[in-house]
Amino acid sequence: MYTIVRQATYLWYVLTVVLSGLVHLHFKGILFQWLWPELPGLNRYVTIPLTGLTMIAALVFSLQFLAVARYSRASYRLLQALMVGAGLSIVIGAFGAYQTAITLVAILAAIATPAAWLIGIFVWSRSQKLAGIYVLAWTPLLLGHLILAVSKLGYLPTTFLTEFGPQIGVAIEVILLSFALAYRINLERRRRLRAQEQALGIQRRANQTLEERVRERTEELQRANRRLEAISLTDGLTQVANRRQFDNRLKEEWCRIGRQELPMSLLLLDIDYFKSVNDRYGHLVGDDCLITVAAICANEIQRSGDLLARYGGEEFAVLLPATPAEGAEQVAERLRQVVENATVYPGAQEAAVSLSVSVGVATVVPTQDVAPGELIRRADAALYGAKGAGRNRVMTYRGLRTVSAGDQ
Ligand code: GH3
Ligand code: MG
Ligand code: MG
Repeated sequence: MYTIVRQATYLWYVLTVVLSGLVHLHFKGILFQWLWPELPGLNRYVTIPLTGLTMIAALVFSLQFLAVARYSRASYRLLQALMVGAGLSIVIGAFGAYQTAITLVAILAAIATPAAWLIGIFVWSRSQKLAGIYVLAWTPLLLGHLILAVSKLGYLPTTFLTEFGPQIGVAIEVILLSFALAYRINLERRRRLRAQEQALGIQRRANQTLEERVRERTEELQRANRRLEAISLTDGLTQVANRRQFDNRLKEEWCRIGRQELPMSLLLLDIDYFKSVNDRYGHLVGDDCLITVAAICANEIQRSGDLLARYGGEEFAVLLPATPAEGAEQVAERLRQVVENATVYPGAQEAAVSLSVSVGVATVVPTQDVAPGELIRRADAALYGAKGAGRNRVMTYRGLRTVSAGDQ
């Protein structure tokens, strides 16, 4: 059992059992009878070491099994002192007076047996369940010894029970203690399992927390990415789409609209004589004018799919997917009019600034053979035409026909 369980307590238990067995065989004269019948002189060298060693083994076992040190320092010291005494009696028995040694060992045994029993009760009272079994195992042995002593003093008749009291006691003790040990091993196993479960639980909770943190961080990161993306696609001054977003959308829509064989229109707006606005009122006022024009145009470009972007300096582009030339011209004219009619009071400026825009319109049905750049080129050419024709007007690329207030 010890080789399987590998617990020191079990080894001391086994030693106690074996040595007690030998002590009882020796006291009944059986060892002498079987092993050294020719040498009766040897007996005196066996009795004391055997009894002493049995005591030591039983005391070490008790110390470990009850974990005495944890409950009472005094009890721990007492049991240790008894062990030292037992060792001393062995030495005296071997080299000194036999009578002294046998008396010493008898006294020590008379103290150790009830002491261990009482310490067992004490530890038991400290809610150590195992100690209960220990006390139970110790009791029959104590009773056996008591009965034997009383019968030897002549107070009890000599019967089988009084004669073999200690042996019966020791047999019961041995059995009960082996149960106690099994129980203790079981208890420890359960404790270990529980500790393992707790550790697992803690780990699981830690993992959950970690996963939550990772999820939170990931969401934060995604939000930050979306913000960054929005920033990277927006014009810092006017808050409309920037050139990058315009280019992306033009490419996307080019493919999408091309599949449906629908026309795609583009307006290019350029503020007229903007340089003179800057020259007259200063660059900051010019910036305010750009913001206002962008806001006015954004207000007009409401159809989903349409995109207003700041194309460069004071130029804006309006992408109108799935829109034919006529529709695009109408939008362009509307934009031209709202800018012309708007009274712009930029910043702290008291006098209103009059602004107008020239608009170039181009419409293309996207195909494999035409690149998106062609649409821009045509709109630009139309814008150039509008400028050349006197500004504040809309011009469409097709035939470079001018449809504007300037003509009327
Ligand atoms: P037109 O288009 O009618 O031919 O005349 P223009 O004066 O607008 O011509 P041009 O394209 O040569 O000048 C554009 C001017 O727009 C140049 C610059 O002073 C101004 N501009 C461009 N970008 C900005 C900007 O971000 N802020 C301000 N305040 N002015 C800008
Ligand atoms: Mg310009
Ligand atoms: Mg201009």
